This record gives sequence, structure tokens and C-alpha cells, in this order.
Amino acid sequence: MENRLSLGEQKQSLIYGPVSSRRFGTTIGISLIPLKVCTFDCVFCELSVHTNVLTLERRTYVSVNEVLSELANYPTQGVDYIALSGAGEPTLAANMGEVIDALHQNYSVPVLVLSNGSTVFMKDVQEELRRADAVKLTFSSLNEEAFKRLNQPVEGVTAARVAHGIEEFVSFFSGRLYFEIVVVKGINDDPAEVRRTVGFLAQFKPYHIDINRPVRPGTARYLELPDKELYLPLEREFPALRVF
Ligand code: SF4
Repeated sequence: MENRLSLGEQKQSLIYGPVSSRRFGTTIGISLIPLKVCTFDCVFCELSVHTNVLTLERRTYVSVNEVLSELANYPTQGVDYIALSGAGEPTLAANMGEVIDALHQNYSVPVLVLSNGSTVFMKDVQEELRRADAVKLTFSSLNEEAFKRLNQPVEGVTAARVAHGIEEFVSFFSGRLYFEIVVVKGINDDPAEVRRTVGFLAQFKPYHIDINRPVRPGTARYLELPDKELYLPLEREFPALRVF
């Protein structure tokens, strides 16, 4: 599918931050992808009503030199991570691995990739993600129907395929691993199902598994938040789990 967004738009938001969060500390973000070029069209997405380009195709949108030259304007002292994230799915950047290598050559700050997890079954993505110091993968349900309703993925992305991709990826990843589960009432909030997904992810010994409820208004404003208390007992069972 053709990308309908210009590189001019992309350049405006290439680097952002520093941003402070409870989950990752202080980060400077790099957006390698134009707004809402994504493999998902999540019902809770805060960015726009619908994904602009729903795709699995990896393309280069910004060069390594552009990234380094923009980043040079940002102080990185005291920063916990340089994060590849932004307003689209960062693993769709065909030069993600090159960017990670260049950041390692030029900075001593660890590199974190914040991915929606959808491309983790792709061998080239696995190989490039392994070069990062830390990776966050979102995987919100093992249940195929709930996964589809929540994430509205591009054709070819299924819960089973992502689960298998996670198994493959983590077997050769030595960095810090984070998982995220986004829960939305009436879609994937059933505590037994959430526990099943947490149990699946916990076997990979992640640094943290975060249950997130989309507290900021998304584009589908009818969404309701599940009660946080539903999942708090799981924190005792799974030490890596944090419920937000
Ligand atoms: S993965 Fe992120 S950017 Fe893509 S649709 Fe979902 S919430 Fe939006």
C-alpha cells in the first residue's frame, strides 16, 4: 500500500522528549515511521480515528544520517533510554537495525524498542530487535477473537503467529524484555483470560509485564476501563507483573 504521508510531516516529529514515565524512566524518542503507519488499527488508539496505512510492509522513511543529525540537538545526559517508538509501528522501518547500530556507535545510552509486537514473527525483525538493549512487546490476548477485536490487525497477523514469534525471539534475546497487555472492558478483560496471557508471557522471564488500561480518551470514546482491582491478585502470583 502506498504511504500517503510526506517525509516533511515525518520530520516534524522525528525526535521527541525527554519524556518521563513510570515504566521506562526518562526517554528520548525517535519516530522512524509517519503518523499511523501501523500493522494494527487498535480500538483504543489515541492517535487518530483510523490507521492511515495498515500494512506489514517494511520501508525506510528516514535515513540514519537524518536521525543522528536531529538527535544531536537533544541532550542525552541522565536519559535512561533512547526509544524507537513514535506515532506508528517502529519495526516497520526497514532500517531499524541500522539505526540501532548507529545509536550504539554514537551514544552510550541504551536503546529501547517499543513495539506493538505484531511483527515479531518476521525473521528480519527478530534479528534487528536482538541488537537492541531493551524491547517492549505488546501482546494483549492469546484469544484469537479478542486479539482481532482489540487490535484489528492487518491480514496475516494473528495471536497464534505473534505468540510463536515471541517464543522464537526471546530464545536468542539477551537484553531487557518488557511485555505489555492492554485491557479493554468487554473485549479482553476477563480475568481468567488475562491470567492465561500473563502466564504465557511470564514463562519468558521478562523484566516486567505491564497491564495497561487505556486511561486517556482514545478515538473510540465509548470504551470502558476494567477495574484495576480485578488484576491486582495476579501481582502476587507473578512478581514481574505491574498493573497500571
Ligand atoms: S499499535 Fe499503537 S499506533 Fe498502532 S493502532 Fe495500535 S495503539 Fe495505534
